[in-house]
Amino acid sequence: APFVDFEDVWLAYSDELRAAGQFAVEGITLSAAPGEFVAIVGPSGCGKSTFMKLATGLRMPSKGRVRVAGQPVTGPLKITGMAFQAPSLLPWRTTLDNVMLPLEIVEPHRSQLRSQRAQYEARARKLLQSVGLGGYEDKFPWQLSGGMQQRASICRALIHEPKMLLLDEPFGALDAFTREELWCILRDLWSVQRFNVILVTHDLREAVFLADTVYVMSRSPGRIVAQRRVEFAHPRN
Ligand code: ADP
Ligand code: ADP
Repeated sequence: APFVDFEDVWLAYSDELRAAGQFAVEGITLSAAPGEFVAIVGPSGCGKSTFMKLATGLRMPSKGRVRVAGQPVTGPLKITGMAFQAPSLLPWRTTLDNVMLPLEIVEPHRSQLRSQRAQYEARARKLLQSVGLGGYEDKFPWQLSGGMQQRASICRALIHEPKMLLLDEPFGALDAFTREELWCILRDLWSVQRFNVILVTHDLREAVFLADTVYVMSRSPGRIVAQRRVEFAHPRN
């Protein structure tokens, strides 16, 4: 069964827009197998962020059906990790504490967090190590380069061991060298852990390099106009 399943999904942002026939996305049909790496490419305004909101349950479709992990999506999902174009680390927290932040949000019982802290911390340190940030655990965001901050953000998105990782232009603000380095880091993490990835980008080269399947969206209306499996370039185990 697919892990992410969109069936003829339409979304208008308001009743007025809907009445006027103005949909941000129209008739999106897409399904991703468990562990599949999907990229969605298209120009700005084509509906990529809208797709993400639908996939995470932040918006409900006006028409059609969204299922994740076999269940209809009825509200914000907790099984996803997310990273965005801006790293958005909290400036007053160290790298390690930024990576552990989501645990405090999902684990409101402080006593429980305290009792599991050692285990969570070990996981955070291991993730940081795996993206080349070993030794930077106690630095603050301003002490890190842009690329390093973005790596920390990806660690933060993965600290829950989510089944699905959503990436919205995560490499857009980086220079070309750092970007390609992060592509490799991401692919290494993914090839070991095999979470689902949905990557939204306007960089077709990035999409083809990273993803198993690339969906291309058009603008006005926001529709998927092409779907290609990437069968070459990177043999995977
Ligand atoms: P992308 O992420 O590809 O740039 P979006 O999903 O943000 O595209 O936008 C798709 C369309 O939906 C655009 O026409 C945009 O103007 C519109 N849109 C996005 N968010 C809202 C909103 N909150 N209210 C009304 N229209 C919106
Ligand atoms: P940028 O994002 O600015 O292009 P990178 O993330 O590619 O930079 O960093 C290049 C390398 O420079 C890093 O891997 C790291 O070794 C070193 N570096 C960058 N910023 C710092 C820093 N604040 N402290 C220590 N080393 C750094």
